[in-house]
Amino acid sequence: MAARLLDGNRIASEIRAEVAADVKSMATLGRRPGLAVVLVGHNPASEIYVRGKVKNSEEMGIYSEKHTPPETVTTEELLALVNDLNLRDEVDGILVQLPLPRQVDAKRVLMAVDPAKDVDGFHPMNVGFLSTQRPGLVPCTPGGVMEILKRSEIPITGQEAVVVGRSDIVGKPMAMLLLNASATVTVCHSKTHDLPAVCRRADILVAAIGRAGMITREFVRAGATVVDVGINRITDRTEFERFFRGNEKREQAFARNGSTLVGDVHPEVAEVAGALTPVPGGVGPLTIAMLMANTVRAAKLRRGTAAPVAVS
Ligand code: NAP
Repeated sequence: MAARLLDGNRIASEIRAEVAADVKSMATLGRRPGLAVVLVGHNPASEIYVRGKVKNSEEMGIYSEKHTPPETVTTEELLALVNDLNLRDEVDGILVQLPLPRQVDAKRVLMAVDPAKDVDGFHPMNVGFLSTQRPGLVPCTPGGVMEILKRSEIPITGQEAVVVGRSDIVGKPMAMLLLNASATVTVCHSKTHDLPAVCRRADILVAAIGRAGMITREFVRAGATVVDVGINRITDRTEFERFFRGNEKREQAFARNGSTLVGDVHPEVAEVAGALTPVPGGVGPLTIAMLMANTVRAAKLRRGTAAPVAVS
């Protein structure tokens, strides 16, 4: 039987509607949340991401501003900008778009962001809050995966969860969120022995690897929930055939654009999984929605109006 598809677009719309309502009531009280985005230079992918973030903020009613230092910016100049944003009360969230140019010490810049305004949730202080279950800001992509699971009523407590990938941005916070939600969690990486066997233990399998279609059906226990975080653009015809042979819709798009997106999970997994996030339209739409939710959360935490719940 084909897996139930977990619709990220629908869930992201739900979250956006909730955020917009929250922003509206905060604005009525004269506390409109604000987001500052720092975009250095002219990286085309970063420009697209930042445009999306600013557009979404505006749609939600969040005040937003964009800072665009030149490619030649120094670490000291960026630190001064971050410091200025840290001090401005109307700015609740600060997002420094990565990657930064080579001459910039990115770690120093990210560490300089006030943890209370760190809407990416990357600051070690927020990492610590997450691992000790204190109120804080959670990285957007794994936070979005939790929303997909919860809003799709996928049981988590007591379930075996396997996360493939241990990056600071996705894999590690994902594992911590699942652990906080009382799953039994295994984290895998490139040195894991017999990865398919470990993955087959999973009731919930999260793939955050960055390798097109690596998770094939032999990695998946029948009926498991599979969350595909990967976003890989493929342009090679042979590779396309490996994933999408006979898929007319994809054929047309590939012929038109010369490329298509595939996750870290092979599409054949839909034949064995119980539930699956598609690519595109699964985890991807949640990332921006969660950034907006984090901006509102940061505003509430800073102003002492957030519910006193631990991050989950
Ligand atoms: P990353 O920093 O490159 O980390 C990849 C992880 O996968 C590493 O821990 C690596 O292990 C592991 N890995 C690589 N090859 C492996 C193999 N053959 N077997 C087992 N594990 C392997 O990537 P990331 O930033 O976490 O991103 C992962 C994917 O998610 C990418 O496709 C990225 O584009 C996507 N992504 C999507 C969103 C979204 O909004 N949907 C957001 C962020 C990222 P080692 O640690 O041992 O090297």
